[in-house]
Amino acid sequence: MNTNIEGKVVVITGASSGLGEATARHLSAGGATVVLGARRVDRLKGLADELTAKGGKAMPVACDVSDREQVKALVDAAVQKFGRVDVILNNAGVMPLAPLERLKVDEWDQMIDVNFKGVLYGIAAALPHMREQKGGHIINVSSVYGHTVGPAAAVYCATKFAVRALSEGLRQEVKPYNIRTTVISPGAVATELLEHISEKDIAQGTQEIVDEIAIPADSFARMVAFAISQPEDVDVNEILFRPTRQP
Ligand code: NDP
Repeated sequence: MNTNIEGKVVVITGASSGLGEATARHLSAGGATVVLGARRVDRLKGLADELTAKGGKAMPVACDVSDREQVKALVDAAVQKFGRVDVILNNAGVMPLAPLERLKVDEWDQMIDVNFKGVLYGIAAALPHMREQKGGHIINVSSVYGHTVGPAAAVYCATKFAVRALSEGLRQEVKPYNIRTTVISPGAVATELLEHISEKDIAQGTQEIVDEIAIPADSFARMVAFAISQPEDVDVNEILFRPTRQP
């Protein structure tokens, strides 16, 4: 069966753990070529070796998405090595939750730089290639927290609301170029996302809630595969999913 995944060149940011890593495995198993971006290159290399050993095609590339030039270099490396970029999954993200009154301003900057500007840089890097190719697929990662605002999550939610607004604007604008756009909003999925919450009380409280309900990262990978595997004239614009037990 042709799934419309086989042979596609897929660039994934934040591929060193969690949702990005699971998606790389899933798409590689479906015959996609995966280009893996993140800062922890050792982990990317390990993943690329694993996928290559299974007969897949994978390339690790060091990339900090808060640096526009590095994101451009990631996508350009994919095109140089494999001839095109069919899909970019703008997935890299951080979630250092804290109440606003604690003034974790550096963490606000980090969330804006990675969660929002990182997605913009991914679009800036991929769009020229996709226009030239007359086709492509840009997939951005928002969150259930891009639909509602939770405790200690004002800035994180703001970045994820912004990703949804950006994705809708992108959708409207890239139609003439035959480019598909999808924004995926996951609920609680078991990853390393909570490990970087610096406020101990918030980290503990959030971890307890998430441990109760979180689902495996492959749930997200299947959503990505669903969007990509549609025929090219079908554009899955938005996916919102959560654990069945998540309120
Ligand atoms: P993880 O912490 O497991 O993975 C985050 C990934 O982002 C890592 O690969 C990390 O790589 C990368 N990353 C962080 N900062 C940067 C940076 N500056 N440049 C490049 N890569 C970076 O968390 P998840 O897999 O859960 O998160 C993936 C996305 O999913 C995020 O956008 C998150 O907001 C979103 N999300 C997650 C949910 C969940 O429940 N898990 C729910 C809703 C949305 P490295 O550190 O090596 O650079």
